[in-house]
Amino acid sequence: MTLIKSEDLIASIADALQFMSYYHPVDFIQALGKAYEIEQSPAAKDAIAQILANSRMCAEGKRPICQDTGIVVVFMEVGTEVRWEPNTDIEELVNEGVRRAYGLPGNPLRASIVSDPAGQRRNTFDNTPAVTHIRLVPGDKVAIRISAKGGGSENKAQLGMLNPSDSVVDWVLSRVEEMGAGWCPPGVLGIGIGGTAEKAMLLAKEALLDGIDMPTLKEQGPKNHIEALRIEIYDKVNALGIGAQGLGGLTTVLDVKIQDYPTHAASLPVAVIPNCAATRHVHFILDGSGPAILEPPRLADWPQVDWSPDPQARQIDLSTVSREEVETWRPGETLLLTGKLLTGRDAAHRRIAELLEQGKPLPAELDFTNRFIYYVGPVDPINDEPVGPAGPTTATRMDKFTDTMLAQTGLLGMIGKAERGEEAVKAIQRHRSVYLIAVGGAAYLVAKSIKSARVLAFPELGMEAVYEFEVKDMPVTVAVDSSGNSIHKSGPSHWRRIKLR
Ligand code: SF4
Repeated sequence: MTLIKSEDLIASIADALQFMSYYHPVDFIQALGKAYEIEQSPAAKDAIAQILANSRMCAEGKRPICQDTGIVVVFMEVGTEVRWEPNTDIEELVNEGVRRAYGLPGNPLRASIVSDPAGQRRNTFDNTPAVTHIRLVPGDKVAIRISAKGGGSENKAQLGMLNPSDSVVDWVLSRVEEMGAGWCPPGVLGIGIGGTAEKAMLLAKEALLDGIDMPTLKEQGPKNHIEALRIEIYDKVNALGIGAQGLGGLTTVLDVKIQDYPTHAASLPVAVIPNCAATRHVHFILDGSGPAILEPPRLADWPQVDWSPDPQARQIDLSTVSREEVETWRPGETLLLTGKLLTGRDAAHRRIAELLEQGKPLPAELDFTNRFIYYVGPVDPINDEPVGPAGPTTATRMDKFTDTMLAQTGLLGMIGKAERGEEAVKAIQRHRSVYLIAVGGAAYLVAKSIKSARVLAFPELGMEAVYEFEVKDMPVTVAVDSSGNSIHKSGPSHWRRIKLR
């Protein structure tokens, strides 16, 4: 029997979470480098360059790749010949590892988990609990695959209970089209086929932990129908033209991973879960000899892609920008913002909307007149940082507040990521406003343009408080202009190469 010490499991979980917060998996970053080389859409190429440059900066600076440092998901295979210390609660040991990792003073990670999800949604402030799946297997070791899954990509998970005669390819393509860009492509699709509803979802999630090997698979050719299906879905998803950040381009997915399982004769469960630009997972084995030792990647493994602001980009002074100036901006145009903007995301919007609905005044500091709001929940700063990594969050979640904000607060424009819904686009057009996007998955790079930060309102909301950021040359792209034209519609339709059957 192998004894696994509690401290070895806790330390290994904590180390793995810290490791993945700043090191992309090397196969992912190299596949992204290849995507950069072949990309022809200028907007998508620029977005990939930002993600690659951000990745290298994070590996060097040991700071999180993305401000959303994820919900922790653990798949643990425990050998039946393994023994634990008395009264061990394995899930609690995993949670202790999460607590230790997310609270590490040298690289604090963002606590994103809320309890009472259908009620008060209170932040647990240590990112616990993890979602832990434990399986007993023959052997005397413990094999662990651990990931930190971003909310934007997890929100796009889909389950279909298809008829056995339905096409899996057609279903996946229709789901990916509906996903939009909130999952921060380019990334990887995990697909689970068969079993039952919950089994298909687990297969899809586990498939995301497999290595990226699509170039090899395409070169060598498929050896079975699952490999053929992977290639077909990969080619057809990329032919949709969604591209990096949904801006339109050649690469939406770097790989398609599939796991399958026998199912009922009447059923065809299919699950698809995307992994985003901040793909993060680490695998290790505990054999009783101590905590896992993780080998850092070599910086030489990163593609040689630098990014700096486009000198041709339009410079915008946020202290003087007017509605008339905003009306001259066009979708796809790159802007560099300098000046002060406010932040706010889900919880702050809910508070503001409630106050407005009740006819109550907003906190005195909250004056949105002619200002821009940035949808963001930053990581806490360290040392002399004004703010930690601070990339955009999915704007679609703020759609239901958009008309109220534009009509009642004097807000001029918004900055986030991904497409806006129809109602939000209409509100933008009606109020002659604008919606800009920053690159999801480039949070540390974006944070470098933030020169100061102070909390203005709702400090009790933690990372969801309203801040005022002072920015210098913050790179953004016009996504919806004041006439309601959207880059998320025109971009993909330009780069699309197939029609759905
Ligand atoms: S890259 Fe996008 S989806 Fe992924 S964790 Fe960051 S914000 Fe969320």
